[in-house]
Amino acid sequence: MLAAIAPMQGRQGGGVGPEGLLPRAEASRFASRLLETNAASGRAVAAIWIDVDRFRQLNDTFGHGCGDQLIGVLASRIQSVSPAGSHCFRMGIDEFLLLLTAESVTGTEQLAARIGQVLEQALSVQGVNVHVTASMGLHHSQPQELAERLLACADQAMFAAKRLGGNRFVWSDDDLARVSMGTDQTRRELAVASMLHQALQQGGLSLRYQPVLGMQGTVEAVEALMSCEVGGVAVSPAEFIPVAEKIGLIGKLGEWSLMEGIQCAARLHRRGLPTKVAINVSRAQLLSEGFLAALEGALLCADVPPQSVELELTESLFMEQSSTVQRNLQRIRETGVGLAIDDFGTGYSCLATLKDLPATKLKFDKAFIQCLPDDIRVLAIVRSMTDLAHFLGLVVVAEGVETEAQLRACEDAGLEATQGYLHARPMPENQLVSWLENHCHDH
Ligand code: C2E
Ligand code: CA
Ligand code: CA
Repeated sequence: MLAAIAPMQGRQGGGVGPEGLLPRAEASRFASRLLETNAASGRAVAAIWIDVDRFRQLNDTFGHGCGDQLIGVLASRIQSVSPAGSHCFRMGIDEFLLLLTAESVTGTEQLAARIGQVLEQALSVQGVNVHVTASMGLHHSQPQELAERLLACADQAMFAAKRLGGNRFVWSDDDLARVSMGTDQTRRELAVASMLHQALQQGGLSLRYQPVLGMQGTVEAVEALMSCEVGGVAVSPAEFIPVAEKIGLIGKLGEWSLMEGIQCAARLHRRGLPTKVAINVSRAQLLSEGFLAALEGALLCADVPPQSVELELTESLFMEQSSTVQRNLQRIRETGVGLAIDDFGTGYSCLATLKDLPATKLKFDKAFIQCLPDDIRVLAIVRSMTDLAHFLGLVVVAEGVETEAQLRACEDAGLEATQGYLHARPMPENQLVSWLENHCHDH
């Protein structure tokens, strides 16, 4: 049952909210105490100011009684994901403040993202499904910071999030200024991390497909490459994948690209354009016990033969000692899904172990291919590695082929297929369909 909540009058209103929620009047006193305790251990206090978007509209539409019940539900959702030791205050009609000991910038962002997720879950109000979003202001205290400043910074950041259209979190100016005093890289990483959270919450991720062509021009496969665009700004996977790995979002992104890539394979089959779709897989995914179930589930849901899917993994992942990774690799092969050694030539390639890998394909990295045909040492390596790979039953592919001369060098070395701007750039699925239709027509 929902706790009955007395309607509050304006932002300055007091009163105790739903069970466990502390009144606004307590926030400052409590913040002072937490700042003091943390100062002793040199840790910062994290403040997350949460304001429900368009609450007035909900209140006007459904009535104040409903609005109050709604706030009760939202409050318990926030509390359900708040870590032990955090304290939640009701700061206004539709405003909450969470205070806790800061673990890391990423930790606070993940908590804010989690709060955003639970608030967004559908709520039935008078038979109507309502999705609530929130604007959140984040702040980490500095040494000797006063409680008033802590709260003002989080509040100001929440307003900044509102001005940007709501449904997001924003760091306070203080935090951004501090980050800008650090390296530009940290600042950029924070921005990329924010974009990734937004892309996952609001949509902004998509897959682009790049054809891999056999030497006779037939389509050997298409590689699915993730792209991220938020508010008209695009970031390349070369930049956001490492950030996603750092902040623990790579598992989610990988799961999404696996599902989406397999579904694309199914759509291509249904259109009479059966094409193998190659999907990049990260270390975090293969370290997960649930990976195989996710793969099998996706294949089953999409109803595509496993031979239409290939997974691309870096060489170092194949060498990973973890028993979970090795078990996952074996079981992937047992399903009939192909396994390609990606970026070959960039790591510490260990030829001796190549024979034991459960791979079906070897992809030379573009850094290698782009030295062709002039660098005769690279040419010699490509030739002899291709022979060895063939001996082990692997199909050999070159990526990053941009010129006719590179294509000829690959053909001379005996490679089966090539991928690169010479043939086509990665493109969205609708363009790929037309590209495949035209291509099949010509070949
Ligand atoms: P990758 O797997 O080596 O993918 C090939 C990259 O080379 C792609 O970059 C592609 O756009 C680019 N490329 C293709 N042809 C040419 C060419 O002729 N010349 C040049 N200079 N580049 C070419 P992109 O899309 O920026 O992706 C970068 C990396 O991000 C990928 O490298 C892959 O490691 C990673 N990535 C992309 N999508 C995913 C994904 O869904 N999951 C995971 N875990 N990683 C992904
Ligand atoms: Ca790849
Ligand atoms: Ca590569």
